[in-house]
Amino acid sequence: MFDIEKIRRDFPVLNQLVRGKPLVYLDNAATTQKPIQVIEAMDKYYREYNSNIHRGVHRLSQLSTDAYEKARVVVKNFISANSSEEIIFTRGATESINLVAATFGKSLKKGDEIIISHMEHHANIVPWQMLRLEKGIILKIIPINDKGEIIFDEFLKLLTDKTKLVSVVHISNTLGTINPIEDIINETKKIGAKILIDASQSIHHSKINVKELDCDFLVFSGHKIYGPTGIGILYGKKHILNDLPPYQTGGDMIRSVSFEETLFNDLPYKFEAGTPNISGAIGLAEALNYINDLGLENIINYENELLNYGTELLSQIPELRIIGTSEKKAAVISFVLENVHPHDIGTMVDIDGVAIRTGHHCTEPIMRRFNIPATSRASLSFYNSKDELNVLYKSLLKVIKMFK
Ligand SMILES: *Cc1c(COP(=O)(O)O)cnc(C)c1O
Repeated sequence: MFDIEKIRRDFPVLNQLVRGKPLVYLDNAATTQKPIQVIEAMDKYYREYNSNIHRGVHRLSQLSTDAYEKARVVVKNFISANSSEEIIFTRGATESINLVAATFGKSLKKGDEIIISHMEHHANIVPWQMLRLEKGIILKIIPINDKGEIIFDEFLKLLTDKTKLVSVVHISNTLGTINPIEDIINETKKIGAKILIDASQSIHHSKINVKELDCDFLVFSGHKIYGPTGIGILYGKKHILNDLPPYQTGGDMIRSVSFEETLFNDLPYKFEAGTPNISGAIGLAEALNYINDLGLENIINYENELLNYGTELLSQIPELRIIGTSEKKAAVISFVLENVHPHDIGTMVDIDGVAIRTGHHCTEPIMRRFNIPATSRASLSFYNSKDELNVLYKSLLKVIKMFK
């Protein structure tokens, strides 16, 4: 296994007291902390070679263009895409999904169908609802069972010759459920529809290979995989992206502009209008290199160990019920406590330096499915330890005593 103490030294934020107690950061599904390597790469960019890309022949512009395009190659390799033209830099997963809705959505007509699941993040619900308003498409929802798993037979029943797109989350940010995306992709392809995978929570908890998956689109945010905020990825198959109209328009996405006619640039620039988040791309690439150095396999094994330990520990509390008990699960533990509102739990464990998230986690339909207003969520990372889970456990016992 890897050396947790050594790893933790890479993350400056982790080494601090909160309310006089060592910080226990268990809010990794909301955003992850950044290793010093990422912070320094971005710092170096601004200190040493900040310059706009693609438009300059001067030295600094060449350096920044090289770094930006190298970052694209790092992303391409990380998800095993065929070519870096298939890697579009966006602001994050939300913008990536909106990009697909705005461009692919243009070709849809009244009565066309899009399928999502009951466990989607709002970012993978609302853009399709907007298309429903605009185009009269039909939005169908794959139901989930009491464990928080997709009911596969029900998914099969939703597929018709009107289905144009299936858009599903790989790992649920609220339930931790790992969805059988290989099977979902296969069934979707059989009827000739397109498939989008929301990999926001899986990019750092599982090995993603878009060539093997054979998905049409895949999205994620940099900040959930130890990179900066404000940068994200849309992966799309080259021939599909080529056929889509542009998203935003302006500089960089054009080949030539006259008042009579404008020609659009080739992939991937066609979808990157305006000056992009150069430092963000550099930081993201550094984060992916960091993950590669640790080894995703090691990360997955260790996080599973933590998940099993935490699940067993919290299950010893009779008043506590875990929401999301899928057979296949990533390192997220959502729970409710009898007679205590999640908001009070979050506030009270904060006194012990423990950062968890409480609320609906941008997945309100899941709350309604389980008939609860909110959950408390501990989401784990490779820099967390069993000791930290013990701190959470003891803090929860105090909460229960207090509310008895
Ligand atoms: C965080 C998240 C998103 C949205 O990501 P942003 O970084 O807010 O754009 C979408 N889907 C899932 C599953 C997420 O966890």
